Formats: sequence, structure tokens, C-alpha cells
Amino acid sequence: MAPEKISVRCCIAGGGPAGMMLGYLLARADVPILVLEKHGNFLRDFRGDTIHPSTLELMHELGLLDEFLELPHQKVYELNAQVGETRLTLADFRHLPTRCGFVAFMPQWDFLNFLAEKASRYPAFKLSMEAEVTDIIEDAGRVIGVRAKTAQGEVEVRADLVVGADGRSSIVREKAGLRVKEFGAPMDVLWFRLARTAADPVATMGRFDAGRIFIMLNRGDYWQCGFVIAKGQYEEMRRQDFATFRAAIAKLAPHVKDSVQELRGWDDVKLLTVRVDRLLEWFRPGLLCIGDSAHAMSPVGGVGINLAIQDAVAAANILSQPLREGQVTVEHLRRIQQRRELPTRVTQSLQVAVQRRIIARVLTETKPIKPPLAVRLLGKIPLLRRIPARIVGVGIRPEHVSPEIRRAGTAVTAVSN
Ligand SMILES: Cc1cc2nc3c(=O)[nH]c(=O)nc-3n(C[C@H](O)[C@H](O)[C@H](O)COP(=O)(O)OP(=O)(O)OC[C@H]3O[C@@H](n4cnc5c(N)ncnc54)[C@H](O)[C@@H]3O)c2cc1C
Repeated sequence: MAPEKISVRCCIAGGGPAGMMLGYLLARADVPILVLEKHGNFLRDFRGDTIHPSTLELMHELGLLDEFLELPHQKVYELNAQVGETRLTLADFRHLPTRCGFVAFMPQWDFLNFLAEKASRYPAFKLSMEAEVTDIIEDAGRVIGVRAKTAQGEVEVRADLVVGADGRSSIVREKAGLRVKEFGAPMDVLWFRLARTAADPVATMGRFDAGRIFIMLNRGDYWQCGFVIAKGQYEEMRRQDFATFRAAIAKLAPHVKDSVQELRGWDDVKLLTVRVDRLLEWFRPGLLCIGDSAHAMSPVGGVGINLAIQDAVAAANILSQPLREGQVTVEHLRRIQQRRELPTRVTQSLQVAVQRRIIARVLTETKPIKPPLAVRLLGKIPLLRRIPARIVGVGIRPEHVSPEIRRAGTAVTAVSN
């Protein structure tokens, strides 16, 4: 059967935080867009549930904050750690120059469903679920569309602009032959959930001990746990008795010694292979990559979602008018990379430094560990905690929704009311 043919101004591959935010903003600015998402819904394994103060600020600028905060979430005001036997607070979000002085923990599917629902109010927005992009279509060196597999068969989408927002294993960037710089990572992370009881502590916590790093995120009735291991160690661990793994967790966090028994085996544990990379060029004529597709982030600091959303805002601000007028040039795409490359570079450099100087050392240490001087200072001087709070909560060069897109949304809402 001949593939169905669709034409649209902008086709976005991937409905994650970057793709859905860009789709929402462009549709609000009346640019006909189509988001192709390979999954049938937004329900996935844990992929980070953090909605940062900067994203909450964007929600405010879009007039969506109050409604958004009605969704179930936990507010996290500070980040705490236990290094060896010393407990300290590392970051305090309360003093950020943003409307919300906290990180909202919310399942990513709630966030994406919210954006999809809000975007569906705009006639310019189309979302196709179970639509997997398999290739790009090129003509004379320019990307002019994508091919996708859907439940109804093959589809060919022609677009003035294709946006690769399909995450760190991006098919779009691979097919476009964009060159990637890899930075390496000394660790992988095992993610799993443990039941949380009323008697448990409330703090979201990182525990650093000789050879061990264990993260516990308070998600109300459960803990979202990240057990950091040295890269490549997973296969060796799998050969050991699973009880050894349970015992290691119970030793790090004695208050979960009962709930850890609920972990039945390795099927209850999800491996995140940590990767840090960045495209040398984020675009080609007719194509732009944003979010993890342009730069896979380390989980250090939990900032990947924030960067993906900030990329989407910068892209929408620069592209909404030229896209509407059918006038997108390579210069527009270059401007987006120029705007977002600095925050990405700086954040990745910090992440790589933490990976090398702290994580790699802790994971290979055999003797009891003590907090390094910089961490002790954070613990002692509350004012200093505003620095990591700023980097994690707001990031470098925070983006704001352009007045044009803010106004556009108000006009459409007023008409539909
Ligand atoms: C286990 C884990 C924990 C994490 N924890 C955090 C955290 O605490 N805080 C944080 O900020 N970040 C965290 N991250 C990173 C964060 O999830 C990413 O940085 C962020 O989701 C990037 O957003 P994105 O939209 O660019 O890509 P993604 O979220 O990866 O979205 C890409 C989307 O594209 C779809 N897709 C992929 N291929 C195709 C295709 N061929 N066709 C159509 N659709 C496609 C995918 O289904 C997905 O919906 C974590 C990641 C993982 C895996």
C-alpha cells in the first residue's frame, strides 16, 4: 500500500518534555504542527519526575500554573545528603527569584498529559500516538520530512521543518548523520521503587558511602530509588544472589529493610545506562534537534528535563513567526543552537566534573568517606546553598516565553470562551 502523505509546517519527532512543550508553544502561536510519538500513551518507566522552578515559572508565564499545581505532586524545598556519617543540606530552593521556591515532583506522564490536553485546545496542534519515526526524507541536501510507522500503516510527513525531539537514542539525528561528541560517564544507575511508610523520614536524600551512592526521592507513598553503580558492573551484579543487592540497600537505608524484601528480582530493577553527549551541530537545512536528542545529559543534578524544556522555549521564541510565514532559514536554526549551547556546555561540564571528582572516587573508595571541603561549606553556610539551588532549579540562561506567544494564547482562549 502506498504510504499516506501528510503536509504540515512543522513535524516534531518525539512527544517527551522537549517535543510536547515545543508542540504546545508553536500551536499556541498558530503554527500548524504534528507531534509523532512512538508510544501509545505517556505512561513509561521512571524517567525523572522533576518539574523545576524555571519550568513552573514558564507555566506561570503561560497562565497555567495554578491549574498545573492542582495535579498531585510533592514539593521539595531542599536537597539533602549523607556523606559517610555526616548529614547535610546541599541546596535550598526557597530563595530562588522564581514564583515557586521548590521542585515539584510529579510523574512525567501527568506533566505530558497536561501539556497534551492544553495543546489540544489549539486547532493548529495535532498529536499522533503510536507513530514511530523510522527515517528522514531528503531532497537536494535538505530535510523535507519524515517516514513513520503507525498502527494504520506507513506515513510520509512533509514539513518545512522537522524537529528531532526523540531523546538520547534519537533516530532523527542518526539518520541525519549529525556528528556527536561523547563525554563518557563512570557510572550507571539502577532505578526501582520501595514502599514508604508514615514512620520513614521525609527528606529526599542522597547517601554517599565507601563504594556506594544511593538516592531516595520521596514520592509520597513510595521511594523512587537510584542505586549508582560503576559502569559495566551490572552484569557482574546480576550473576550474584539478588539477596546481596537487597542487603546492600538495607545497609544504606535501614528504614527500608522491610520494604526492600518486596523487590522480587532483577525484573523489578531498571538499568539506566548513563551517557553524556552533545551534537556538534544541532541542525541541518530543514532539521533541528533539541533536548536529549541534541545533548544527552548525565543524571547528576536531575536537570535533563529542565534543559529539554528550555530548548523548546528558545526554539518556539525564535521559530514561531518564520514558521508561520514559511520563512525558516538555517540562520534561525543556528541562532537556537547559539542560544542553548552555552547552558548545555556549562551544565555538562559541571556534571562531568562531579562524575569524575566525586562519583568515580566514591564508587572506588573502600575506606569510610568524609565530605570534601566544598560540601562541608555548603552544609555549614546556608547562603552558599543558593548556588547549587540556582544551577539545578533554574539553570544557566533561563528562557522566558516571548510576549508574542503569551498574547497569542490569551487571544485563542478568549475566542474559545
Ligand atoms: C531513569 C531516568 C531518570 C532520570 N531522572 C531525571 C531527573 O530526575 N530529572 C531530570 O531533569 N531528568 C532526568 N532524566 C533525564 C530526562 O528524562 C531527560 O533528560 C528528558 O526526558 C529529555 O527530554 P526529551 O523530550 O529531550 O527526551 P525524552 O524524554 O527521551 O523524550 C523523547 C520522546 O520521543 C519518543 N521517541 C523516541 N524515538 C521515537 C521515534 N523514532 N519516533 C517517535 N517518537 C520517538 C519517546 O517515546 C519519548 O516520548 C532521567 C532519565 C532517565 C532515563
